[in-house]
Amino acid sequence: MNESENMTPMMKTIRCWLTHAFQASAVSIAAALLALTAVAAMPAPHVAALASPDAPDNGIVICLDPGHQRYGNNELEPDGPGSAVRKPKVTSGTTGVATRKPEYVLNLEVSLLLRDKLAARGYQVVMTRDSHDVDISNKERADMAGETKADLFLRIHADGSESAAAHGISVLYPSASNAYTRAIQADSQAAAAEVLSGMIAATDAASRGTVARDDLSGFNWATVPTVLVEMGFMSNPDEDRRMSEPAYQLKLAEGMAAGIDAYFADRVPAQATEPYDGAITLTGETALFDRAGGGFHRTPYALGAQTVQAFERSGNWYHIRTWLGDLWVDGVEALAGEPEPVDRPLSLTRTTTLYSSPNGNGRPLAALAPQEVRATAAWNGWYRVDTWLGALWLQAE
Ligand SMILES: [Zn+2]
Repeated sequence: MNESENMTPMMKTIRCWLTHAFQASAVSIAAALLALTAVAAMPAPHVAALASPDAPDNGIVICLDPGHQRYGNNELEPDGPGSAVRKPKVTSGTTGVATRKPEYVLNLEVSLLLRDKLAARGYQVVMTRDSHDVDISNKERADMAGETKADLFLRIHADGSESAAAHGISVLYPSASNAYTRAIQADSQAAAAEVLSGMIAATDAASRGTVARDDLSGFNWATVPTVLVEMGFMSNPDEDRRMSEPAYQLKLAEGMAAGIDAYFADRVPAQATEPYDGAITLTGETALFDRAGGGFHRTPYALGAQTVQAFERSGNWYHIRTWLGDLWVDGVEALAGEPEPVDRPLSLTRTTTLYSSPNGNGRPLAALAPQEVRATAAWNGWYRVDTWLGALWLQAE
């Protein structure tokens, strides 16, 4: 849709930071029942490590984000969808008081050990970076985790303090009062607890507990469960030196891997596939995968918002027929059935977040100031509002 079309004055109050992932031009093929669009310039994760050939793929995708990079980028970005608060895109992190090692180096050292441990256990591992000379903002790192449909987005950092005495491990997670992360909050908190206890058991380091945060861009933009590990304090000479010892780094990685295992312990590794015969409605640009579960199985193709027929489902994934063959879509962006068309005025009395889909797991894409709007469809207490960004969903007050 052309951005100048269908834009009413009230819609100009929408503030938008739409992800670039699906800025694609529609390809019209008369013979095709489905309008396929190629995804242009998808910010693909920089590095992917396949699961080890010795370990069967367990169907779980982990996105590892070694915090920071060689040079920080002080350009500003909103700290969440629709937020007026702007923070630097990415900083260069702290430095070891004893080792003089920059944090971004330590973070990557341990992340690479963890990548190999996870791959050996059958996880698919996606890395946001595997070198220091990158320029990836915290929002973009969160986007990468979301685009690969990672089951967990693990951010790896080390701490710094004014006090040289401060030491120990903490694991951060999105707070329960954070509106941006409502859909991933409970899972993130559960993962934080498991990762922390795995690390404490493996390292004997002091535990500083799990810590709820609502001010981190990398959390607020996340659409998949996420935690941030602070492995120890580089401002503490002993802990700084220890975190650079190869044997201790292995313990840190082992502890994180054990925590990840514990978090996913009750998940059925491979969801059974069952026949399904019904319509599903794609609520926006929807990526196509050649297997259920996400990760490396993402194709370069996407479907626009439309209702399609599914013939199989696997967990929350639907198998649909396209002229490229049979492909999978994530049910997070799809509804079983069709929304009810309505023409209904809505009075927004406070700033209201707009989501890509009305099922509670959609991506928050924009915010509307208090105003009168008109709903064009209804779905389980959610309403669709047509904006110049396309159709987005808000929850009735
Ligand atoms: Zn850091």
